[in-house]
Amino acid sequence: MTTAIRSEVALELSAATIGYGGVPAVRDLDLSVRSGEILALLGPNGAGKTTTMLAAVGAIPLLSGSVTALGAPVVEQVERNARRGITLVPDNRGVFHSLSVADNLRVAQRKSGSDAGFVLEYFPKLKGMLRQRCGSLSGGEQQMLALAKAMLPEPRVLLIDELSMGLSPIAVQNILPRLRAVADEQQMAIVLVEQHIDLALSIADSGIVLHHGRAALTGSADRLRRDRDAVESAYFGVEAS
Ligand code: ATP
Repeated sequence: MTTAIRSEVALELSAATIGYGGVPAVRDLDLSVRSGEILALLGPNGAGKTTTMLAAVGAIPLLSGSVTALGAPVVEQVERNARRGITLVPDNRGVFHSLSVADNLRVAQRKSGSDAGFVLEYFPKLKGMLRQRCGSLSGGEQQMLALAKAMLPEPRVLLIDELSMGLSPIAVQNILPRLRAVADEQQMAIVLVEQHIDLALSIADSGIVLHHGRAALTGSADRLRRDRDAVESAYFGVEAS
Protein backbone atom coordinates (compact mmCIF):
# COMPACT_ATOMS: atom_id res chain seq x y z
CA MET A 1 0.00 0.00 0.00
CA THR A 2 2.73 2.41 1.04
CA THR A 3 4.64 1.61 -2.15
CA ALA A 4 1.63 2.56 -4.28
CA ILE A 5 1.25 5.90 -2.50
CA ARG A 6 4.98 6.57 -2.72
CA SER A 7 4.97 6.12 -6.46
CA GLU A 8 2.54 9.02 -6.98
CA VAL A 9 4.15 12.13 -8.41
CA ALA A 10 2.89 14.92 -6.15
CA LEU A 11 4.56 17.90 -7.82
CA GLU A 12 6.04 18.17 -11.29
CA LEU A 13 7.57 21.05 -13.21
CA SER A 14 8.24 20.34 -16.89
CA ALA A 15 10.46 22.59 -18.98
CA ALA A 16 9.37 25.42 -16.69
CA THR A 17 10.59 28.89 -17.55
CA ILE A 18 9.61 31.37 -14.87
CA GLY A 19 10.34 35.05 -14.58
CA TYR A 20 9.33 38.58 -13.81
CA GLY A 21 8.00 41.07 -16.35
CA GLY A 22 8.68 38.59 -19.13
CA VAL A 23 12.36 38.21 -18.16
CA PRO A 24 13.26 34.60 -17.24
CA ALA A 25 14.82 33.97 -13.83
CA VAL A 26 14.48 30.17 -14.10
CA ARG A 27 14.85 28.41 -17.44
CA ASP A 28 13.68 25.08 -18.73
CA LEU A 29 13.48 23.41 -15.31
CA ASP A 30 12.33 19.82 -14.83
CA LEU A 31 11.53 18.82 -11.27
CA SER A 32 9.55 15.98 -9.79
CA VAL A 33 8.73 14.97 -6.20
CA ARG A 34 6.70 11.97 -5.15
CA SER A 35 4.46 11.65 -2.11
CA GLY A 36 6.59 10.81 0.92
CA GLU A 37 9.76 12.18 -0.67
CA ILE A 38 11.93 15.19 0.08
CA LEU A 39 13.64 17.17 -2.67
CA ALA A 40 16.46 19.52 -1.64
CA LEU A 41 16.54 22.60 -3.87
CA LEU A 42 20.04 24.01 -3.58
CA GLY A 43 21.95 26.89 -5.12
CA PRO A 44 23.60 30.22 -4.37
CA ASN A 45 21.82 33.55 -3.85
CA GLY A 46 19.83 34.58 -6.90
CA ALA A 47 19.90 31.07 -8.44
CA GLY A 48 16.11 30.95 -8.74
CA LYS A 49 15.07 28.82 -5.76
CA THR A 50 12.37 31.17 -4.42
CA THR A 51 11.14 31.85 -7.95
CA THR A 52 10.67 28.10 -8.44
CA MET A 53 8.82 27.74 -5.13
CA LEU A 54 6.53 30.68 -5.95
CA ALA A 55 5.61 29.19 -9.32
CA ALA A 56 4.93 25.81 -7.67
CA VAL A 57 2.21 27.38 -5.49
CA GLY A 58 0.81 29.54 -8.30
CA ALA A 59 2.06 32.85 -6.91
CA ILE A 60 3.78 33.78 -10.17
CA PRO A 61 2.99 32.64 -13.70
CA LEU A 62 5.13 30.53 -15.96
CA LEU A 63 6.52 32.04 -19.14
CA SER A 64 6.47 28.56 -20.67
CA GLY A 65 6.33 24.91 -19.61
CA SER A 66 4.00 23.51 -16.95
CA VAL A 67 3.50 22.92 -13.23
CA THR A 68 1.27 20.06 -12.12
CA ALA A 69 0.46 19.07 -8.55
CA LEU A 70 -1.67 16.26 -7.21
CA GLY A 71 -2.85 15.34 -10.67
CA ALA A 72 -3.98 18.78 -11.87
CA PRO A 73 -2.34 21.90 -13.28
CA VAL A 74 -1.30 24.53 -10.73
CA VAL A 75 -3.33 27.63 -11.56
CA GLU A 76 -2.30 31.16 -10.64
CA GLN A 77 -4.42 31.25 -7.45
CA VAL A 78 -2.47 30.65 -4.25
CA GLU A 79 -5.51 30.22 -1.96
CA ARG A 80 -7.11 27.73 -4.31
CA ASN A 81 -3.89 25.73 -4.55
CA ALA A 82 -3.56 25.81 -0.76
CA ARG A 83 -7.07 24.36 -0.48
CA ARG A 84 -5.92 21.57 -2.82
CA GLY A 85 -3.05 20.83 -0.42
CA ILE A 86 -0.12 22.79 -1.90
CA THR A 87 1.43 25.03 0.74
CA LEU A 88 4.48 27.29 0.95
CA VAL A 89 6.26 28.14 4.20
CA PRO A 90 7.81 31.50 3.25
CA ASP A 91 11.28 32.53 4.34
CA ASN A 92 9.77 35.18 6.66
CA ARG A 93 7.97 32.27 8.39
CA GLY A 94 4.50 33.86 8.55
CA VAL A 95 4.07 33.71 12.34
CA PHE A 96 2.37 36.43 14.40
CA HIS A 97 4.94 37.77 16.86
CA SER A 98 2.45 39.48 19.16
CA LEU A 99 0.32 36.33 19.59
CA SER A 100 1.05 33.36 21.84
CA VAL A 101 2.11 30.03 20.37
CA ALA A 102 -1.36 28.65 21.15
CA ASP A 103 -3.10 31.56 19.42
CA ASN A 104 -0.84 31.24 16.37
CA LEU A 105 -1.88 27.60 16.16
CA ARG A 106 -5.53 28.49 16.79
CA VAL A 107 -5.53 30.89 13.81
CA ALA A 108 -4.20 28.16 11.53
CA GLN A 109 -6.52 25.60 13.12
CA ARG A 110 -9.60 27.72 12.53
CA LYS A 111 -8.74 27.87 8.84
CA SER A 112 -8.00 24.17 8.55
CA GLY A 113 -10.34 22.49 11.02
CA SER A 114 -7.51 20.07 11.94
CA ASP A 115 -6.53 19.17 15.47
CA ALA A 116 -3.20 20.74 16.51
CA GLY A 117 -2.35 17.57 18.47
CA PHE A 118 -0.77 15.78 15.53
CA VAL A 119 1.56 18.64 14.58
CA LEU A 120 2.70 19.06 18.20
CA GLU A 121 3.82 15.42 18.17
CA TYR A 122 6.42 16.44 15.57
CA PHE A 123 7.48 19.53 17.54
CA PRO A 124 6.98 18.51 21.19
CA LYS A 125 9.05 21.45 22.43
CA LEU A 126 6.16 23.73 21.48
CA LYS A 127 3.87 21.89 23.91
CA GLY A 128 5.65 23.53 26.82
CA MET A 129 5.51 26.98 25.19
CA LEU A 130 1.85 27.32 24.29
CA ARG A 131 1.29 30.40 26.45
CA GLN A 132 4.52 32.10 25.44
CA ARG A 133 4.41 35.05 23.08
CA CYS A 134 5.80 34.05 19.70
CA GLY A 135 8.11 37.08 19.64
CA SER A 136 9.98 35.70 22.67
CA LEU A 137 10.76 32.37 20.97
CA SER A 138 14.18 31.56 19.52
CA GLY A 139 14.55 31.49 15.73
CA GLY A 140 14.48 27.68 15.76
CA GLU A 141 11.34 27.60 17.89
CA GLN A 142 9.65 30.14 15.59
CA GLN A 143 10.56 27.98 12.62
CA MET A 144 9.03 24.95 14.36
CA LEU A 145 5.86 26.99 14.92
CA ALA A 146 5.81 28.11 11.28
CA LEU A 147 6.14 24.49 10.15
CA ALA A 148 3.48 23.34 12.61
CA LYS A 149 1.07 26.01 11.31
CA ALA A 150 1.75 25.07 7.71
CA MET A 151 1.18 21.39 8.50
CA LEU A 152 -2.16 21.92 10.23
CA PRO A 153 -4.26 21.85 7.03
CA GLU A 154 -2.48 18.55 6.25
CA PRO A 155 -1.02 19.64 2.91
CA ARG A 156 0.10 16.97 0.44
CA VAL A 157 2.88 19.17 -0.99
CA LEU A 158 4.87 21.33 1.44
CA LEU A 159 7.41 23.81 0.10
CA ILE A 160 9.80 25.25 2.68
CA ASP A 161 11.84 28.29 1.66
CA GLU A 162 15.14 28.89 3.51
CA LEU A 163 14.38 26.74 6.53
CA SER A 164 17.66 27.75 8.14
CA MET A 165 17.30 31.51 7.66
CA GLY A 166 18.87 33.01 10.81
CA LEU A 167 19.22 29.63 12.52
CA SER A 168 22.30 27.97 13.99
CA PRO A 169 23.39 24.68 12.39
CA ILE A 170 22.34 22.96 15.64
CA ALA A 171 18.80 24.34 15.35
CA VAL A 172 18.66 23.16 11.74
CA GLN A 173 20.03 19.77 12.76
CA ASN A 174 17.26 19.54 15.31
CA ILE A 175 14.44 20.38 12.89
CA LEU A 176 15.42 18.48 9.74
CA PRO A 177 14.89 14.92 11.05
CA ARG A 178 11.34 15.93 11.98
CA LEU A 179 10.69 16.81 8.36
CA ARG A 180 11.91 13.34 7.38
CA ALA A 181 9.41 11.86 9.84
CA VAL A 182 6.63 14.10 8.45
CA ALA A 183 7.37 12.98 4.88
CA ASP A 184 7.48 9.30 5.88
CA GLU A 185 4.51 9.22 8.22
CA GLN A 186 2.18 11.72 6.55
CA GLN A 187 3.25 10.83 2.99
CA MET A 188 3.82 14.51 2.34
CA ALA A 189 5.96 15.57 -0.61
CA ILE A 190 8.42 18.19 0.64
CA VAL A 191 10.58 20.63 -1.32
CA LEU A 192 13.24 22.11 0.89
CA VAL A 193 15.34 25.16 0.07
CA GLU A 194 18.29 24.98 2.38
CA GLN A 195 21.74 26.54 2.57
CA HIS A 196 23.25 23.74 4.73
CA ILE A 197 23.89 21.40 1.82
CA ASP A 198 25.07 18.38 3.81
CA LEU A 199 22.26 18.59 6.32
CA ALA A 200 19.65 18.95 3.58
CA LEU A 201 21.02 16.02 1.58
CA SER A 202 21.20 13.88 4.74
CA ILE A 203 17.37 13.83 4.96
CA ALA A 204 16.45 14.29 1.28
CA ASP A 205 15.71 11.66 -1.36
CA SER A 206 16.87 13.78 -4.27
CA GLY A 207 18.49 17.12 -4.96
CA ILE A 208 18.74 19.80 -7.62
CA VAL A 209 21.47 22.43 -7.69
CA LEU A 210 20.30 25.58 -9.46
CA HIS A 211 22.77 28.03 -10.90
CA HIS A 212 21.73 31.18 -12.76
CA GLY A 213 18.23 29.80 -13.11
CA ARG A 214 19.21 26.47 -14.62
CA ALA A 215 19.45 22.99 -13.13
CA ALA A 216 23.23 22.59 -13.02
CA LEU A 217 23.04 19.19 -11.28
CA THR A 218 20.21 16.77 -10.53
CA GLY A 219 20.41 13.41 -8.81
CA SER A 220 19.58 11.21 -5.87
CA ALA A 221 20.58 12.66 -2.50
CA ASP A 222 22.91 9.67 -2.01
CA ARG A 223 24.72 10.41 -5.26
CA LEU A 224 25.04 14.12 -4.51
CA ARG A 225 26.30 13.37 -1.00
CA ARG A 226 28.98 11.09 -2.40
CA ASP A 227 30.01 13.57 -5.10
CA ARG A 228 30.53 16.79 -3.21
CA ASP A 229 32.95 18.06 -5.86
CA ALA A 230 30.19 17.93 -8.48
CA VAL A 231 27.79 19.69 -6.10
CA GLU A 232 30.29 22.46 -5.39
CA SER A 233 31.12 22.89 -9.08
CA ALA A 234 27.43 23.15 -9.92
CA TYR A 235 26.83 25.50 -7.00
CA PHE A 236 29.59 27.86 -8.03
CA GLY A 237 29.01 27.47 -11.77
CA VAL A 238 32.35 25.84 -12.50
CA GLU A 239 32.37 23.82 -15.73
CA ALA A 240 33.17 20.13 -15.14
CA SER A 241 36.57 19.32 -16.66
P1 ATP B 1 18.20 33.73 -2.48
O1 ATP B 1 18.91 32.51 -1.95
O2 ATP B 1 19.05 34.94 -2.43
O3 ATP B 1 16.84 33.93 -1.89
P2 ATP B 1 17.07 32.53 -4.85
O4 ATP B 1 17.83 31.36 -5.37
O5 ATP B 1 15.84 32.24 -4.06
O6 ATP B 1 18.03 33.49 -4.06
P3 ATP B 1 15.35 34.14 -6.50
O7 ATP B 1 14.88 35.00 -5.36
O8 ATP B 1 14.43 33.16 -7.06
O9 ATP B 1 16.73 33.43 -6.12
O10 ATP B 1 15.84 35.14 -7.65
C1 ATP B 1 16.20 34.67 -8.93
C2 ATP B 1 16.42 35.87 -9.84
O11 ATP B 1 15.18 36.54 -10.03
C3 ATP B 1 17.38 36.90 -9.27
O12 ATP B 1 18.18 37.37 -10.33
C4 ATP B 1 16.49 37.99 -8.74
O13 ATP B 1 17.10 39.23 -8.82
C5 ATP B 1 15.29 37.91 -9.68
N1 ATP B 1 14.05 38.32 -9.00
C6 ATP B 1 13.55 37.81 -7.85
N2 ATP B 1 12.40 38.43 -7.53
C7 ATP B 1 12.16 39.35 -8.50
C8 ATP B 1 11.12 40.30 -8.73
N3 ATP B 1 10.08 40.41 -7.91
N4 ATP B 1 11.22 41.08 -9.84
C9 ATP B 1 12.27 40.96 -10.69
N5 ATP B 1 13.28 40.08 -10.53
C10 ATP B 1 13.23 39.28 -9.45
